[in-house]
Parts: sequence; structure tokens; C-alpha cells
Amino acid sequence: MPIDLHTHSRASDGTDEPAEVIAAACAAGLDVVALTDHDTTAGWAQAGAEARRRGVALIPGAEISCQVGGIGVHMLAYLHDPDEPELLAEMERTREDRVARARRIVDRLARDYPLTYPDVLRQVDDRATVGRPHIADALIANGVVADREEAFATLLNSRSPYYLPHYAPDAGQVARLVRAAGGVPVIAHCRARHRGRVITDDDIRDLADDGMLGIEVDHRDHADAERSQLRALAKDLDLLVTGSSDYHGTGKLNRIGENTTAPDQLERLIALGTPQRVVW
Ligand code: AMP
Ligand code: ZN
Ligand code: FE
Ligand code: FE
Repeated sequence: MPIDLHTHSRASDGTDEPAEVIAAACAAGLDVVALTDHDTTAGWAQAGAEARRRGVALIPGAEISCQVGGIGVHMLAYLHDPDEPELLAEMERTREDRVARARRIVDRLARDYPLTYPDVLRQVDDRATVGRPHIADALIANGVVADREEAFATLLNSRSPYYLPHYAPDAGQVARLVRAAGGVPVIAHCRARHRGRVITDDDIRDLADDGMLGIEVDHRDHADAERSQLRALAKDLDLLVTGSSDYHGTGKLNRIGENTTAPDQLERLIALGTPQRVVW
């Protein structure tokens, strides 16, 4: 029973429509897939309708941008109330600042490369969360780089002089808000060192105290040693262990279903959240 709990659609920076993510999950032989777009639940309706049509189970989710003492982290949220006002307000604040930040990154890049903000907007669907991958797509369209990989290897990574961060709420606060909204907070790829500084075991303990319920252990950005260490920590703290692809369509090398979650962990996750929100 293959289960993939982390994917992106065109509601954020994936390249598939939400329905196409479901179709890809189906083609890969998955039984359960979560849609976890950055800071939005805008893809839930379309993904849900397609999941019902195809007989794939959908766990509606989101990947919420957060920080722990200035270190950027991503909190996956599953089965939460998408209309809970406080959580929604934090996601809206992030989404708005992502637009301002993308404009500022483009201002910097425009000094050295042919690029305008409207070029970026052409790459973003209506209501979608703006991110660096859309800037990458505009750079590709303008012939500056060949693909998103090259853009992130050169101009867009966090060590680039063109890079700027965006607003992100405190991760402990987000864990509490997700719980209050009936959802299950799971920390995403927290040992992905190539993205920048990573949080400590003590930070993870603090997040668990705030209500975080799981650790995404099996992810392509984690080496084997990191996975074993995180698995032991999850056991110690009685946290869920998940695995997932972080699929972005053709925007990243990640293949849907390349990492998966064990059925007993999914069962626990659903019971800890709001089971009625699963689309069967
Ligand atoms: P942002 O949310 O705007 O800071 O952009 C980060 C997003 O860019 C993450 O969701 C990643 O999935 C994506 N990303 C990071 N590195 C790469 C890469 N090498 N190729 C494609 N996408 C990437
Ligand atoms: Zn992404
Ligand atoms: Fe992420
Ligand atoms: Fe992701």
C-alpha cells in the first residue's frame, strides 16, 4: 500500500495541475497521496475531485514556511481546517511577503540579467504561492539558465548574493495553530543541509512540546545516517515517522512515490487529525 505524503502542484511551485498530481500518483501505483503546496490549500478542491474519480485516497495538506530562531524550516500540516482564521492569517502574511520578496530578488537579478517582475508573474498561476522556482522559470524563459536545477545551483540558492528571505512565522507557534485547527504537524526534511543551516535535536524536542506530531525521515535530501538518527529521535519522542517524495512535477528530479510512509504511521496520523477530511 504505497503512501506518499508530500507533493506540490501549480497551486505553489509544482508544474502539474492538482488533478495531474493525482493522475501521476495513480500512474505510479500509489494508494494514498498528500497534496502539500507551500502556504496554500488552493489545490484541495481539484485534487479531491480527481482523487474520488480515480479511487486514490487524498490526504489534504500544506507545507507551511516557518522559522526556528531565524533558521528556515517547513512544517507539513495534514487534515487541518483550511479556514481556521489564525493559521490562515499566518499563511496569508507569508504569501504576501513572498510576493514582495520575489520583487526584491528580481530587482537584484535585473542589475545583471534580463529579467522583470512581469516575466516572473507569467510563470505563476492565479492565486498560486510565489516562490524562487517561478523566478527560475522566468530565467529559463529568458535564456539565462537551462533549468531550475541550474538556477538553484547558481543564482537562487540561499548563499547567492541575489538571495533574500521572506517572512515566516515561528515553527512552534505554527505547530500549535495546526493542532488547534484539527491538523497534524510534521516537520519536513529538517536535516536537508544543502538548503542552509538546520535545526538541532533540542529544537525538535521543543517543537514536539509545542504539539508537533511527526518527523519526515525518508526524503531524498536525507542521507542514510541522518535517517537512522531521526528515526531514533522520533522513537524516543513517540513521534510519527513519514517518508515522501516532495514531488514538484518536472520542476525537480524527485519522482512521485520515491519515498513512502508505512501504513501504520498513516493510520496513526489520520487518527490524530480530522479523519473526515481524508478524501477516500
Ligand atoms: P522558496 O520557497 O521561494 O524559498 O523556494 C524554495 C523552493 O524551491 C522549495 O520548495 C524547493 O522545492 C525548490 N527548490 C529548491 N532547490 C531546488 C532545485 N535545485 N531545483 C528545483 N527546485 C528547487
Ligand atoms: Zn517547493
Ligand atoms: Fe520544503
Ligand atoms: Fe516541499
